[in-house]
Amino acid sequence: MTQYTSRFGGLRDAAGAAAAAYRPHRRRGGRPVRRVAMLSVHTSPLHQPGTGDAGGMNVYIVELAKRLAERDIEVEIFTRSTTGARQPCVELAPGVLVRHVDAGPYEGLAKEELPAQLCAFTHGLMRAWAGQRPGHYDLVHSHYWLSGHVGWLAAERWGVPLVHAMHTMAKVKNAALAENDAPEPLARVIGETQVVAAADRLIANTDEEADELVRHYAAAPGKVAVVHPGVNLQRFRPGTGRAAARARLGLPQDALIPLFAGRIQPLKAPDVLLRAVAVLLDDDPALRDRLVVPVVGGPSGTGLAKPEALHKLAARLGISDVVRFQPPVDQELLADWYRAASVLVMPSYSESFGLVAIEAQACGTPVVAAAVGGLPVAVCDGRTGFLVPGHDPRDYAGVLRRFVDHPGLGVSLGDAAAVHARAFGWDASAADTADVYAAAQFEHRRHLRSAHG
Ligand code: UDP
Repeated sequence: MTQYTSRFGGLRDAAGAAAAAYRPHRRRGGRPVRRVAMLSVHTSPLHQPGTGDAGGMNVYIVELAKRLAERDIEVEIFTRSTTGARQPCVELAPGVLVRHVDAGPYEGLAKEELPAQLCAFTHGLMRAWAGQRPGHYDLVHSHYWLSGHVGWLAAERWGVPLVHAMHTMAKVKNAALAENDAPEPLARVIGETQVVAAADRLIANTDEEADELVRHYAAAPGKVAVVHPGVNLQRFRPGTGRAAARARLGLPQDALIPLFAGRIQPLKAPDVLLRAVAVLLDDDPALRDRLVVPVVGGPSGTGLAKPEALHKLAARLGISDVVRFQPPVDQELLADWYRAASVLVMPSYSESFGLVAIEAQACGTPVVAAAVGGLPVAVCDGRTGFLVPGHDPRDYAGVLRRFVDHPGLGVSLGDAAAVHARAFGWDASAADTADVYAAAQFEHRRHLRSAHG
């Protein structure tokens, strides 16, 4: 397997001569990266995650930007305006600005229509840049392929490196679609391929994602660095424990509570959890009185086409009485849902990392997850939860049954989960990202020097 730069292995890139020339923390000449233009075209870090286009990427950008600012790297996040109610520039935290760019109407544009607004967005970005002193931004960090296209041009024009994070990839999603789910369009695949070629550095969440970049998009291995995302360990912690969280949420103390949290769309497979619950109740009807299945989040992606589909499925399965649909909540409250749950269930078809898996564990709650994408990194099978191959509801029902039969299981897994999650603080992610920035800048300057003799 190709090796990539990684926190856990330090710099261990064997494939890229360019990366091999760079050593993190080595003193280098030239100005360090002090200010980054971070691009998030299609979704704002100020949006509530867990519904629509707002999810893990929004959380990722907010947490990373704050931690970078604490390391003296200022971050200006550019995002498309979707309301006239916000100021053009909002301070998110000391050293972190959110800049709103007018590109198309505030309402009524789906993510799929945004490629037609990329010129307008780039125009807004360039105007913001033109109002600054030369050299204002040392580097562009783009998130998702739409931002990558804007970053491609901006980085070239400003003479700075482009660092890009895909977050999700069309080819990977399309290879693991839920039944009847719509595939990502070819235009996105082409766009992603262009960004991969243009970026100076690509940040992948896991070794698996790094391999996918190389296999599916012909990324040069030496350009790919692995940085695990983190979890806010102040917010997500066991706190006063499960019983207190259940009391606060009005949930029964003795219930089995398998929780789904996140954007409701076929890719995340909340339907598999509902079907598993139906199997569980068929096998053991007496469980009905002590089973609560919260589904926290709102419709998103292809799930927007049929926002009522999951409610209808619950009705068809005859389990509406045990399922509790909750609109998306802020992370303080979400932490209580994690603490209250017996187990978080993530039967996803594809997941580049799956932040909710690590957040729940940080709260002391085990996770039952499909063995896909980043989930085998987030969950230690048999130690902090269980990984399930495939999406057969009977398999998930079988695993949930173990929590019924062995009441102590959730506690022992949960304790180990809380310890495991502590390795995933955002400070470490920011430190690794800063190293990637330094490597990108070093390499970029080297190229410029050799190009100009
Ligand atoms: N989330 C939230 N409120 C909710 C549901 C989810 O704030 O009601 C957040 C959650 O804390 C997590 C993110 O949304 O940080 C979802 O990230 P994940 O990586 O699990 O999924 P993605 O949205 O990236 O597919």
